Amino acid sequence: MTPVHSSGPIPVAQRLTQLPPYLFAQIDAAKRAARAQGRDLVDLGVGDPDQPTPAFILQAMAKAIRDPKNHRYALDQGMPALRETIAEWYLTRFRVKLDPATEILPLIGSKEGIAHLPLAFVNPGDSTLVPDPCYPPYRTGTILAGGTPIALPLREENDFLPDISGIRRSCKSNTKILYLNYPNNPTGATATLGFFKDVAALALQKKLLVAHDAAYSELAFDGLKPPSFLQVSGAKEVGIEFHSLSKTYNMTGWRIGWACGNAQAIAVLGKVKSNVDSGIFQAIQVAGIAALKSPPKKLAPLLAAYQRRRAILVEGLRKQGWPAPTPKATFYLWTRIPKNKRSAEVAQELLRVNVVATPGNGFGEAGEGYIRMAMTVPEARIREAVRRMGRLKLWSTRTSASARI
Ligand SMILES: *Cc1c(COP(=O)(O)O)cnc(C)c1O
Repeated sequence: MTPVHSSGPIPVAQRLTQLPPYLFAQIDAAKRAARAQGRDLVDLGVGDPDQPTPAFILQAMAKAIRDPKNHRYALDQGMPALRETIAEWYLTRFRVKLDPATEILPLIGSKEGIAHLPLAFVNPGDSTLVPDPCYPPYRTGTILAGGTPIALPLREENDFLPDISGIRRSCKSNTKILYLNYPNNPTGATATLGFFKDVAALALQKKLLVAHDAAYSELAFDGLKPPSFLQVSGAKEVGIEFHSLSKTYNMTGWRIGWACGNAQAIAVLGKVKSNVDSGIFQAIQVAGIAALKSPPKKLAPLLAAYQRRRAILVEGLRKQGWPAPTPKATFYLWTRIPKNKRSAEVAQELLRVNVVATPGNGFGEAGEGYIRMAMTVPEARIREAVRRMGRLKLWSTRTSASARI
């Protein structure tokens, strides 16, 4: 990402200069330099599936792309057939009934809806509650709308869930949105229905819109089925949920997802969108329908592949002394680093042995002390990364976790 220059011929809007510094800039530059030198990097830095989109989805797309009626502007609110398919998928998966006409809004990727949502609810000076660490658009979308994000620290001792009394304390009279994300990027944590129930009750009391990002709802292991926020009673009064086909069907480049839940929030997000975009290319919507109509068991090989990668990475790192947990969901490993080092420093050291990982502080201040590794490379490359990291002896006695500073 190029830095914003505030000193050009035309002064740029303050909202752009107010965006937090891009914390991955340093590691990105180092990665580019290493690649330019022809070094063979194992890139565990990007949360982008390495495997291709399944063939049956490509076939649906190939057919749809030849149909001229898909070449024109799509409907802003998505094809009725897509909204109906989403409603069926939701009912089967979560036992939650959604009205396809008023409670579902297809998006050009869930990031698009997440980033536009504050424009519908946040007045200049208002605030939102964002987890720390978190996926960056919750924070930056708030700032672009003129609002102030308030950080809710996610602590390991609380299973990376924000503390309910902490949410209550941080919430001000002008706080509009509470962002949540489970299964969580970057921590890999999952939430329970009990937690969602407490959140729904608090949101109702505080008049907060809950925006739950469930992009990883289908990427869970050992038979776990992560819940939807909309499963708890009262959730539809206070919340919407974001879903994405990106991670579930290896479709990150296609740009298709949706928001669903509270009808008023869906309507106003739709109003913002109708003024900034003109819908999702219809052939992609047809492909999305094919993806969502496929039986869930089609996902088994994908989940099994991530589970094998997880075993190689976690076991390999533990042998080297890393306190690596076993993530129950997502394709991320979020692990502590030696206490005497900063996450950016560890990322630089890994790069010295040609391994790319993401420093935890890039996701927020509370991410300091951790590093994220994405299991989006084949098993042999994960083994290679583990071998390379072993050479650093990061957890040798002199630099071990117990050597506090
Ligand atoms: C990858 C990801 C998304 C998905 O984004 P799309 O725009 O749908 O591709 C959403 N939220 C989180 C937390 C993610 O990591």
